[in-house]
Amino acid sequence: MSQQKNKYDLIIIGAGFAGMYSLYKAKLAQINVLVIEKASGVGGTWYWNRYPGARCDVESMQYSYQFSKELQDEWEWTEKYATQSEILKYANHVAERFNLKENIKFNTEVKSVIYKEENNNWVITDNNNKTITSTFCIMATGCLSTINKPNFKNINQFSRPILHTGTWPHEKVNLKGKKVGIIGTGSSAIQCIPEIIKEVDHLYVFQRTPHYTVPARNRPLKYIRKKITEIARKPQGYDTNLYVEEVKAHYKDFRLRAQNSVAAMVLPINEESALEVSKERRKSVYEDRWKKGGVPFIAAFQDLNFDRDANETAAEFVRNKIKSLVEDSATAKILTPKYPIGCKRLAVDSNYYETFNKPNISLIDLNTEPLDEFVSNGLSTFKNLYELDVIILATGFDAMTGTLFNIDIQGKNNIKLKDKWADGPKTYLGLTTESFPNFFIISGPGSPSVLTNMIVSIEQHVNWIFDCFKFMKKNKKSSIEASLQAEQEWVKHNQDVSVDHVRSSCSSWYMGANIKGKARIFMPYVGGYANYVKKCNQVSQNNYEGFIIK
Ligand code: NAP
Repeated sequence: MSQQKNKYDLIIIGAGFAGMYSLYKAKLAQINVLVIEKASGVGGTWYWNRYPGARCDVESMQYSYQFSKELQDEWEWTEKYATQSEILKYANHVAERFNLKENIKFNTEVKSVIYKEENNNWVITDNNNKTITSTFCIMATGCLSTINKPNFKNINQFSRPILHTGTWPHEKVNLKGKKVGIIGTGSSAIQCIPEIIKEVDHLYVFQRTPHYTVPARNRPLKYIRKKITEIARKPQGYDTNLYVEEVKAHYKDFRLRAQNSVAAMVLPINEESALEVSKERRKSVYEDRWKKGGVPFIAAFQDLNFDRDANETAAEFVRNKIKSLVEDSATAKILTPKYPIGCKRLAVDSNYYETFNKPNISLIDLNTEPLDEFVSNGLSTFKNLYELDVIILATGFDAMTGTLFNIDIQGKNNIKLKDKWADGPKTYLGLTTESFPNFFIISGPGSPSVLTNMIVSIEQHVNWIFDCFKFMKKNKKSSIEASLQAEQEWVKHNQDVSVDHVRSSCSSWYMGANIKGKARIFMPYVGGYANYVKKCNQVSQNNYEGFIIK
């Protein structure tokens, strides 16, 4: 283990949930480690995304670490879906409980990560031009961590505040009595709009594509605790009314069920086909899911993700809900998506559609009234001028590759990651990429990552990497790199499994379609979490097949 100043065995970039758990494992293994983090605190996504209404749409009893039984038992979530501030509190609790902060260099942005073949190490340079070296490098930089700020015409002309949901200010933003415009209607906007409407004088929602969303039915967990559920007694069953004590009493089994699932979470998948049940049965299943709320809606029938006719039954159900919830029929029409449900990530909301019945909201359809330019006091479309005090960009992220490309990452023979991935990311298992030895990516493209319960996926990745470190140490190896053949096969497999999946059936950030000039290729692995884990385990059990280890 190296102890020289500025020389480490392992550098981890990012102190979100992936970076924190990697650090925990490194400390446990007594590896000489440093984490570099751009923010002034831990939490990653939950540090940055502080917009009103921000919360996780994976249930809090599942969206947490499982590596420590004590941590799992002692932490008390207060709501079915935790707010951003509660998740951030949890992240800080973890960091303090396991003394993680002492190994994190905050307020520091990594600018380059360059492999030096002659020394078999990585040279990492930060924004202060400080350089360190490390044998191994883990990119724990997140999948949705670089915001997409479209190049709107004359954006700098607007003389008042422009906020982005993905980099929301830390201090309270006062929107009281203000005329506010919000551009974008994805998951972030869908959470933000019903919150800020309570405060603003008037809200103008600029929509390019309507998004499907289902009610969250969020509730305090204390209320749920009073209810009787069968979760612990029905190992295959599931009830959205998670009963905290019962889950905690059987957490191990509960987690195991998530490990063996498609999305790394306990999700009630109805094994029936939407097309093979009666019309009445279909409606009652959808009504039941709608009433219970949350992402389980998309698991109402087993064929919604693969059969377009089956999918259309679910899409039509939600379209009818929009019609019944939104009083003004013209507004309802604009809010109604026409593409398959679940193609863009299904959003989960609290009173989103109902918000459009308020007197102080206007929906602007950018398809019939395209944006022209920002002006000093507002936004002008080709039809109207909207005077605004604040503009919110809810325009999403340069997902999965944006943050990696913002860093100058160079592997063997000075090959730049950005160039290697110009036609789309190329990884082996989403964890590694050929020509970049001893370099790992957590929840990278080619891994299930954003299609799953992220904390569970993160723990699996990190455990795999640290098992690999152990293997290398035991076998006195100093370098591991994906073989080109293994990478090519994995990339092909990724594309094969995505072809017929609903997720690749429309333009979305999964496909890189939201960023001008970005390669159009389905980035996350859509073959299912359990299948992915099986493959990873097979690779490690076969002495890291597909890797060149020296
Ligand atoms: P998003 O899903 O990418 O939505 C961005 C929105 O901005 C879309 O409506 C998009 O329209 C619009 N937009 C982008 N560029 C535009 C332009 N030039 N002109 C007009 N409109 C434009 O981003 P997001 O809502 O931030 O969500 C991103 C992801 O973060 C989610 O899919 C999810 O994975 C995660 N997230 C999770 C939660 C949660 O756990 N509850 C909450 C928020 C976010 P088009 O559709 O036409 O491109």
